[in-house]
Amino acid sequence: MSTLLLTGVRPLGGPASDLLVEGGRITRVGEGLAAPEGATVVDGRDQLAVPGLVDAHAHLDKTLWGLPWRPHTAGDGLAALIDNEHRGRAELRRQGVTVAQRATALLGAYVAAGTSHIRSHVDVDTAAGLDSLHGVMEARDAFADRVQVELVAFPQSGLLVRPGTVELLEAAVRAGADLVGGLDPAGFDHRPAEHLDAIFAIAARHGRGLDIHLHDGGELGAFTIDLIIERTRALGLAGMVTISHAFALAEVPGPRLEGLLEGLAGQRISLTTVAPGNRPPLPLARLAAAGVTVGLGCDGIRDLWSPWGDGDLLGRAALLAWRAGARRDQDLAAALELATTGGAGVLGLDGHGLEPGCWADLALVPAATVGEAVVAHPPRSLVLKRGRVVARA
Ligand SMILES: [Zn+2]
Repeated sequence: MSTLLLTGVRPLGGPASDLLVEGGRITRVGEGLAAPEGATVVDGRDQLAVPGLVDAHAHLDKTLWGLPWRPHTAGDGLAALIDNEHRGRAELRRQGVTVAQRATALLGAYVAAGTSHIRSHVDVDTAAGLDSLHGVMEARDAFADRVQVELVAFPQSGLLVRPGTVELLEAAVRAGADLVGGLDPAGFDHRPAEHLDAIFAIAARHGRGLDIHLHDGGELGAFTIDLIIERTRALGLAGMVTISHAFALAEVPGPRLEGLLEGLAGQRISLTTVAPGNRPPLPLARLAAAGVTVGLGCDGIRDLWSPWGDGDLLGRAALLAWRAGARRDQDLAAALELATTGGAGVLGLDGHGLEPGCWADLALVPAATVGEAVVAHPPRSLVLKRGRVVARA
């Protein structure tokens, strides 16, 4: 791997520094570093450097990125959305548009926006089997040197309500899915204990983590979180479980929330949020105080669920901050932290950051402060993945 000296950048808005990159990692940070012989020197032009952005909750297989605009056609409610997606996907198949093509197009946008890591859920169901998983794996392999992608086998159409799906999830893990997913064990699948027992058993058998979609709000969601904490503890899976959305945490009364936070922190269960516009935001300050790791995700992008999204985690951090009413630079910086450090914690990444020893995964942003970078989220002028330039404006 080549040596690169990035001069005159401001790590997260700090004083101007040079970054020396050797063997894919940042080896020195300081003022006036000398370029080793044969090193490529890149002038950072006093821009802000941010660590690689981490999308902790994506759906690469669902995107229609790169296709003509498609007006949203689904009815209201989860079942109507799932039904609409089945019809839309069948139409795409008839048109010969593959999952690999769509996911590849979106990965290009993610890389240009400075994304270094993605955790993507991938639909596994009895209609399409593992087709989406194989398609996304093809796209992931094509981008392996530009962005690292981990995959969750996701029972989008339900688990126990669709006999045969439990077996398919296990087959997905054997075929290369990194984690086991779940979907509203109570509200959608109607048998919460059995649903969770089934997916935890697969995870424990294969030594994998879990990432469970939980839209159920109020006490139903809180009850499900209790069941997840209980199983994480019983199976010794602390640090390997994520709950996505977890809207219930924004809806239960204070004392109930405190108990849940204690259980989540105790089992190092992480959360992801996608800055939803139609549900109350998670109590991020209380989660941080309790020591619960939270990552940020773009969720589905331009898909049959929603026409929104563009794969820019800085833009998503702006949405999160806007929803939270953030104004001060430090509050805007906290939103960006979810998209970097928080996501790295959810994915269990080592060496994510801008300090010596970290992987040289970073992006340059033409902005004066982190606050401006979040609010304006201008196009990234340079993106490095493990020390290689992978995108340039
Ligand atoms: Zn999702």
